Formats: sequence, structure tokens, C-alpha cells
Amino acid sequence: MSQAPGSPPLQTQGPYYPLRVLEVVRETHDACSLVLEIPSELGETFDYSAGQFLTFRVEVGGKRLVRCYSLASSPVTDSAHKVTVKRVDEGRVSNHVNDRFVVGTVLEVMKPAGVFCLQEREDEPERPIVLFSGGSGITPVVSIIKTALATTRRPLRLLYANRDEASIIFREEIDALAAAHPDRLAVVHSLDDRDGFVDLPRARDFAAGSLGADFYICGPGPFMDVAEAALAELSVPADRIFIERFESPDDELPVDAQAADSGNGVAVTVTLDGKTTEIDCGPEETILQAARRAGLEPPFACEEAYCGCCMAMVKDGEVEMKMNDGGIDPKQIEQGWVLTCQGVPKGPARVEYPD
Ligand SMILES: Cc1cc2nc3c(=O)[nH]c(=O)nc-3n(C[C@H](O)[C@H](O)[C@H](O)COP(=O)(O)OP(=O)(O)OC[C@H]3O[C@@H](n4cnc5c(N)ncnc54)[C@H](O)[C@@H]3O)c2cc1C
Repeated sequence: MSQAPGSPPLQTQGPYYPLRVLEVVRETHDACSLVLEIPSELGETFDYSAGQFLTFRVEVGGKRLVRCYSLASSPVTDSAHKVTVKRVDEGRVSNHVNDRFVVGTVLEVMKPAGVFCLQEREDEPERPIVLFSGGSGITPVVSIIKTALATTRRPLRLLYANRDEASIIFREEIDALAAAHPDRLAVVHSLDDRDGFVDLPRARDFAAGSLGADFYICGPGPFMDVAEAALAELSVPADRIFIERFESPDDELPVDAQAADSGNGVAVTVTLDGKTTEIDCGPEETILQAARRAGLEPPFACEEAYCGCCMAMVKDGEVEMKMNDGGIDPKQIEQGWVLTCQGVPKGPARVEYPD
């Protein structure tokens, strides 16, 4: 849900907090940044690490959609929280944000989450950092760059791919950082209309210059595939590679009924958007899978226990999570929240998604 400027602030709804847009920055013809106001009482809740994202819940065309947006600000060098949203062709939320959000808009936001973060290397404080970024994939990457420049002595190299000159988000900011740190930050811009798409040899050559580095990759699917393939060819160990995928959940796609075993008959009562439905959860089937199989449309995004989008409150019964990769914190678990993408009911249960 988002709210027009001038209306009274929204109340907190479960894991969502109402935040006001303080500033809208037009970055390029197809991307804008939102600077968000964090009330002082939420300061700690919204503390974040460089590279983390926020989850927005936005109403578009009568449907509540959940989307993640990385923080492009640095927790160390920037005073405000800033996300940057690039239009996706026919994309519902990204175009809604670019077209409709103005100073004063209030939107529902979850606290920062995500594991695509600047890793501390106390054992090797000068280990280089190599970053592959394409298009809007620059958002967490620029946060990592600013933070690493300010808090470490590590050298950084960025390969930044864009369609054309006009599409480069944060061009001035990044070039100014490189100019201010000529011995620490090297930036190579790759433009599709000038250089063609980044291919395997170019990605490999770029990475080969810093084989002992940590590697960060974020961008469009094919760009990320090339970067990953280059690192595989160079035998870079997996624990030095960090990847963020900017995917929307397939919220329109039916769940493959075969993928979930529905034969056990554990009854789970699900309240979603004020409507209560009884669903049937198979052995090892998660509540999210069973709910979608039953035709419900609960919120979700990563399905890997790190974004927190699919959280619901357990009102009755016991629900065990297969894993938690930071999507929910111990305090929330204590309060009864569960990640439904990981939650398997141990017997009949009742869960409620936040309004
Ligand atoms: C961790 C994370 C961080 C992210 N950070 C950022 C960020 O910093 N900046 C940023 O801009 N984005 C970011 N994203 C991506 C963002 O969350 C959204 O996925 C993106 O904005 C597109 O959402 P949308 O609602 O506009 O598009 P959607 O409406 O979800 O559409 C996406 C695509 O699917 C197609 N589509 C839509 N509906 C259908 C349908 N019914 N059938 C077939 N195809 C359909 C559309 O044509 C479009 O091409 C991030 C994603 C993740 C997971």
C-alpha cells in the first residue's frame, strides 16, 4: 500500500513500517531515487549493512505487490536511506514508483535484509574487491564501494555495464569517487551501444587482474551469467564470490502441483487480506507452497529465507522453519512470526498474514 502526501501516517502493520518519502531524485530517464525518512524511534530497526535491501509493499491496480530495492546509500558515509528504482518494461511496481511517488508519499517498508554485503576481512585487510555491475545492479554495489573506501584500505575495481551513456545511474558520483581515490578505485564503463555486451573473454580479462580478490556480481541475468562463468573458468573459490539476483517473484505463475506433495492432509487455516481459507499442507511442503497451490496469492520474493517478504504470524499450532538466512530475527520468531517459504506445520495450525 502507498499513501498520498498529506494523509496521516500509516500504522505499523506487522513487519511493515510506514516510511515517508523525503526526496525524489531523477537519476536518469528511466530511474529515480527515493530518500526515505526514518523516524528516530525506528533508527535501530533500520540500521543496515552496505549491500542490503528494503522490501516495499505497494498497491498497484488493486493488487498488493511486494518488491525488494537495494540501498544505494552507505551506512557510513550517507546520512539518509536511499533506494533507486529503475523502470522495467511493463513492470508494475517499478513504473508505479517512477510515475507516482512524490515527496510526502508514505509507503510500507520492511527493515533492511540481505546477505550481499561488504565482507570484513580482518585476516587480509587489503584483499582487493572486484565488482561486476549492470544497470540497476549498481545500487548495492555503489553502497559497498562507498563503504569500503571509507572503512578499509582495500583496492576496488568496478566493471559497470549499461545500455548507453544516458542510462548510467550515479555516473557523476562514481566518477567523483574514482577521481578522489585514484590509487584505490578503478572504474571501467562498458556501453552496449559502443562496446557490445560484456562477453566471456572481457569478463575473464577483467577478473584475471585480481585473482585473490572478493568478487561481487549484480545486474541483469545474462550479464551475471557471463561474470559467473568467467570466475568459474578462473577457478575462483565460491567463498570469494557474492551474487545478488534482482528477480521479481513469479506471482502470476501457477505453482507446479507436482512440485509439492499434497497428500498428508495437515490442515492449515490461512488468513490473508481479511479472508480465511483452510488449506492442505503435504509432508515437507511449506505453507507458502501449499497456499499458492490452493490458489491464494500470499506475498513472497526470494523463497530462500533472506528477504522476509513472506512472513506470517502463527496464531495456533507449531510451524517449524527449514532454515533462516536472516529474513526473520529472533525477536520476531519469539513474537510468533514465521517465514512461510520455510515454514512446515507440525500439525494443524492457523497463520495470519499481516494486513
Ligand atoms: C534483493 C533484490 C534487490 C533489488 N534491488 C533493486 C534495486 O535496487 N533497483 C531496482 O530497480 N530493482 C531492484 N530489484 C528488482 C525489483 O525488486 C523488481 O523485481 C523490479 O523493480 C521489477 O518489478 P516490477 O513490479 O516493476 O515488475 P513486474 O511487474 O514484476 O514485471 C517484471 C517482468 O515480468 C513481466 N511480467 C509481469 N507480469 C507478467 C505476467 N503476468 N506474465 C508474464 N510476464 C509478466 C514484465 O513484463 C516484466 O518484464 C531487486 C530485486 C531483488 C530480489
